[in-house]
Amino acid sequence: MSTPRKRHVLIIGAGVTGLQTALALLDAGYTVHIMADHFHYDKNKPADYASPRAGAHWRSHAAPTDTEQQAWDKATYARWLAMLEDDGPASGLGLVSSHFYTPSPSPPWYAPHVQSFHLLPPRTTPDGQTLHGHAYTSVILNVPVYLKALDDRVTARGARFMRGGTPGLGTVRAHFAALYGPNAPVLAAVVNATGIGARGFVPDHAVYPLRGQTVIVRGSAERITTVDTPGVLTDLLYILPRPGAGVTVLGGTKGRDWDGSVDGETTREILERAAEWAPELGGVEGMEVLEVQVGLRPAREGGARVEVEWLREDLVIHAYGHAGAGYQNSVGSADKVVRLLGEALEKMERDRELDD
Ligand SMILES: Cc1cc2nc3c(=O)[nH]c(=O)nc-3n(C[C@H](O)[C@H](O)[C@H](O)COP(=O)(O)OP(=O)(O)OC[C@H]3O[C@@H](n4cnc5c(N)ncnc54)[C@H](O)[C@@H]3O)c2cc1C
Repeated sequence: MSTPRKRHVLIIGAGVTGLQTALALLDAGYTVHIMADHFHYDKNKPADYASPRAGAHWRSHAAPTDTEQQAWDKATYARWLAMLEDDGPASGLGLVSSHFYTPSPSPPWYAPHVQSFHLLPPRTTPDGQTLHGHAYTSVILNVPVYLKALDDRVTARGARFMRGGTPGLGTVRAHFAALYGPNAPVLAAVVNATGIGARGFVPDHAVYPLRGQTVIVRGSAERITTVDTPGVLTDLLYILPRPGAGVTVLGGTKGRDWDGSVDGETTREILERAAEWAPELGGVEGMEVLEVQVGLRPAREGGARVEVEWLREDLVIHAYGHAGAGYQNSVGSADKVVRLLGEALEKMERDRELDD
């Protein structure tokens, strides 16, 4: 069997999923090409490019029975702790106490797997709802620094980038050859990390947007606070002090909605609720708003799709639909792509030997 280094893999998409998958493939010895129509350093990024618009931090959304997503999230938590130890703030990561309040009294599945987990006294909201709380040490990201650090690592290991929007999975190899020019290598596989773009690219109509509006204010909140209160306009309040940046990301919304524009009423409600839960930010009047933005999380009915598809002779590994969990899924999801690719290539080789 030929060694992975000689095997060329094209990744479509340069969000956190594409970049983390590139790193995992490079570490496994593959030669990696990345094609995308948008990159994290672009001045104008559309709302449906989710990664640059994220909060972001580790708070697993995996259901108690979803052992695969739990494993992805555990892998990412462990890797982030190791990165922090090795690279410190340059990693774009920080450790912060995270307080989470929800109407459900049940502790989350991750209670035994995170540092310093403990229960908090219940709180009553102004409308009389009882909220149960827990705290743990979360890893929080300075998103622009993290994406750049990831990009730098992928670049240093030899990945080649190309800009290009590719209309569909069926034509991607021809598109790659045209962009690459003469001597384009034969691709062993294509990884589809197009996020919400997968809706048209695959096409997969199970993909849909979960709209998230956030407000970035000056000053650092003392901790991460998340308040899950279904039924309010901003049904999930979160307060995320961005490590090393002196700003706090306030959110947010999670409605099924394609609207990438800012809504003024939502901004006002986010600020009012954040002022109540993090008074150290100076109250509604005292908060200096630096930016308001909207990102569309790439959600999918049935959950993220990380699986193999053969298009006749062409091998495709899908890795999209991570919704509001793409960062915390990223290490485990990328490792799964490497495993699936290795297994598929081995099987192909075995089948060829049997045919010969
Ligand atoms: C407000 C907000 C808060 C969030 N908070 C968190 C959090 O706290 N923790 C967490 O884990 N996650 C969080 N997320 C979710 C996370 O941001 C996403 O799950 C993640 O960014 C998805 O990454 P991706 O690489 O799969 O997709 P994207 O980042 O959307 O990247 C898709 C890439 O594919 C490219 N592309 C698409 N179609 C094509 C095509 N046809 N041809 C060429 N290129 C194409 C795009 O240009 C882009 O480069 C949050 C998201 C938002 C919006």
